[in-house]
Amino acid sequence: MDFEPYIRDIENFPKPGVVFKDITPLLKDAKALTAACQTLCDMIVKHDIDKVVGVDSRGFIFAPLIASKLNAGFVPVRKKGKLPYTTISESYELEYGEDTLEIHTDAIQKGEKVLVHDDVLATGGTASAVCKLVEKLGGEVVQCNFLIHLTFLNGSNKLNGYDIKALLEY
Ligand code: 5GP
Repeated sequence: MDFEPYIRDIENFPKPGVVFKDITPLLKDAKALTAACQTLCDMIVKHDIDKVVGVDSRGFIFAPLIASKLNAGFVPVRKKGKLPYTTISESYELEYGEDTLEIHTDAIQKGEKVLVHDDVLATGGTASAVCKLVEKLGGEVVQCNFLIHLTFLNGSNKLNGYDIKALLEY
């Protein structure tokens, strides 16, 4: 299935000069939603996934759907201060300033195989911080998959050595 018609460009969102890829047209279409989830699952070969880690907040849309299809557990990585139990954290640089992501300390067991999922790979700062959190807990990141990879932002440079897959590349 061609998913491109289901992605909408929103100019100057969330700030002037940015063209935001809006995935809601894909989400509201039953066939596209199901096909996108299936294709993301089909991209994982050779591995039994124990945990699917979804990234706050749009990563939470597909990660549990993928986890359910793969018979894996779902783990949320959230922005600082949102998770209730004990956490470890990882900070990463934004264009201006920095942000911090957290994961529960009991979310992943040593040696578990982990799929990291988010809606968009842009500069790679977010996904790279998530991979570090998984590895700090002893998990093995076997793939990072995304709906959209904005290749012109070179995010894959920050994910060197990881298997990166996406439904759409721009
Ligand atoms: P990065 O850390 O790779 O620069 O940014 C990725 C994060 O920002 C993801 O969590 C993603 O949700 C969000 N993001 C950045 N650009 C876009 C965009 O154009 N569309 C959507 N839907 N999310 C974006």
